[in-house]
Amino acid sequence: MSKIILSGVIRGAHAIFTRVEKKVNDAIAKYGEDKEVKLPNTGYFLPVIYGILGHKVEKLGDMLPVLEKCRSLLPPTVSENLWVPYLGHGLDAGMQTLFCFDMEEALKYLDTPPYVLGEDPTDDNIWLGAADDVIMRKRGVEFVDGSAPGFAAVVGSAPDSATAAKIAKELQEKGIYVFMAGEHNGTTFAEQLRKEGVQVGWPTRLVPFGKDTSAAIHAVGFATRAAMAFGGVKPGDFRGILRYNQLRVFAFVLALGEVTDEWYAAAAGAINYGFPTIADTNIPEILVTGICTYEHVVANIPHDQIVAKAIEVRGLKIHISKIDIPVSHSPAFEGERIGRDAMHVELAGPKSEGFEFCTMKPLDQVEDGKFAVIGPDLADMAVGSVHPLAIWVDVAGRSMQPDFEPILERQIHHLLNGAEGVLHIGQRDIVWMRIAKKSVAAGFSLKHFGTILHAKFHNEFGKILDKVQVTIYTDPEKVKELMAEARTVYKEREERLGSMTDESVETFYSCTLCQSFAPDHVCVISPERPGLCGAYNWLDGKAAFEITPTGPNQPIKKGELIDQTLGQWIGVNEFVLKNSHDAIVSFSAYSLMNDPMTSCGCFEAITVLLPMSNAVMVVDRDYAGPTPCGMPFSTLAGSVGGGAQTPGFVGISKFYIGSKKFISADGGIRRIAWLPKALKESMKDVIDRRGAEDGCPDLYSKIATEEDATTEEEVLAFMEKVGHPAMTMDPMM
Ligand code: SF4
Ligand code: ZN
Repeated sequence: MSKIILSGVIRGAHAIFTRVEKKVNDAIAKYGEDKEVKLPNTGYFLPVIYGILGHKVEKLGDMLPVLEKCRSLLPPTVSENLWVPYLGHGLDAGMQTLFCFDMEEALKYLDTPPYVLGEDPTDDNIWLGAADDVIMRKRGVEFVDGSAPGFAAVVGSAPDSATAAKIAKELQEKGIYVFMAGEHNGTTFAEQLRKEGVQVGWPTRLVPFGKDTSAAIHAVGFATRAAMAFGGVKPGDFRGILRYNQLRVFAFVLALGEVTDEWYAAAAGAINYGFPTIADTNIPEILVTGICTYEHVVANIPHDQIVAKAIEVRGLKIHISKIDIPVSHSPAFEGERIGRDAMHVELAGPKSEGFEFCTMKPLDQVEDGKFAVIGPDLADMAVGSVHPLAIWVDVAGRSMQPDFEPILERQIHHLLNGAEGVLHIGQRDIVWMRIAKKSVAAGFSLKHFGTILHAKFHNEFGKILDKVQVTIYTDPEKVKELMAEARTVYKEREERLGSMTDESVETFYSCTLCQSFAPDHVCVISPERPGLCGAYNWLDGKAAFEITPTGPNQPIKKGELIDQTLGQWIGVNEFVLKNSHDAIVSFSAYSLMNDPMTSCGCFEAITVLLPMSNAVMVVDRDYAGPTPCGMPFSTLAGSVGGGAQTPGFVGISKFYIGSKKFISADGGIRRIAWLPKALKESMKDVIDRRGAEDGCPDLYSKIATEEDATTEEEVLAFMEKVGHPAMTMDPMM
């Protein structure tokens, strides 16, 4: 704590103590020590004193030992030369300030209190004072169940009432309670709100406590009681009370206006609770982190940024319970199809171009909740038209890492698909979207992509990110220009993994996401073999584990090698046995024939043994026609999926076809005798490269497609004609 601010805190604390000591003594002189003193309808006495000291103030005389305690906490007055390099003195002075305020406010209830009892102010009196236990329980539980993320204790007033209303609305929108006390420039924040016609009171979460700074104690009293009521913390367990508040009650102080010595002293009290102060004036900052999750006092923040700054500083995690869009949003809509007749427009896809991209930026370069559309929006597009599309998501967060970008980006697919009348296929630069007529008619706009992603990213990834900003481009030039930028990054991401081998790591990652429908299925993800859906590679597994340590992606220590060729390790087998609920005993990473991995049903492609040909075929999801094994993709997916281990059949990602470990135990890529034409063409570079590496540079021309063969007999005839390498390889069975 800097010397200037510390001296302010200590001056303020001394002044408050002197004033309150006099008030207590005056009251005792007037009513006697036995006069009952209490706050309305509470079992927690003077809650801060009771919670922190375990001391019950029931009569005026009970305040005397508290005053003694306060006196002992008061540091010596700071002389010009005194330098105290740590927070201790300031914190003690702050704590005694809270005890003094607790008593000062309670004294007001000896006579007719200046407060309205209950949840709502009246026309004549806006101030509510201490909440009774009924209100505390009803409202406090919202802090526990997460429906209220925290509270802002606003001290002072905004420069004008319109600014006050704007700040209050911003806090309200985030579900944050606003507790108001103290005045500045002859007015209060609560009165400013009323002037703007804003409804105040507990029901709107805008709670006017009192005009004096001391009334801010009702916020602290509320928090202290919450720790005892909901956290089971015992009175007097001050560490427990402070810890509960630091970790569970996300509160902060907004100091609006000139920060007086008294405010400094109160702010120091709040720091004890882990509540930082964010000020709009230029007061000395305390940026060391320690007791508060982040900085203690942050100064000079403009009013249009003060809420965002407070949320960032306090590390408050926003939960958005309702996604504010004109259509429904639920996983139930993820499977919805939009036919030509129902479609308003098509975005990106094969007839146009587009991409989606998530990138991290520094905190000050992302404006949380900002959504923009560059180019025509849905309502401006003709029915049946096709447009380019870019979905660009900027995220920022103190725990964000570049490795998390693809994980977040991958969520765009199911999150947008979850909106009614919105179809989303693919990822990265192969996205393809359709928006239904009914959704556009209901008022759905491209901006709502932002609404959805912002809400869901906060709710599901609040641990790693604090800010989400979404820009949608339909302007063709812009889409083209940014796509080049995104593609560079996609490539970098692949290359980061590209140089890694299974041998270069000790740990693989599991994925058990698909156990929701294939209960015994486990994907084992290694650098050279992504999950079979193609959505999770090894880096993703690693990042996902960091984001959600108890989630479906767990590290698997390979352990002792059992068989290098098959790709079997003791650690992997043990993990799979346990997580397949004893169904699968051994698991080969590189074999189709010998203990292949299980297939859950969402594989991108499937590799199937062609027994007569001593070869394999690979068919992907996009090919619906007949295949040489006698079953189309859909039948294969139905019969091989479900989490079973079926030698001769293995679900794979397309990426794995180009891996050196692609069924390497069974002969590798030279075994491929048949591919759907479209898949073959899309993988020409990969096949050429891998074929050459495995001694068969003209492999590409030796692989049949549906144009050459649709039965195994025809495949065999084709192989003989072209001299397919598998003809001379060891038998597979
Ligand atoms: Fe996870 Fe994909 Fe495997 Fe399912 S298929 S378990 S999502 S890696
Ligand atoms: Zn699956």
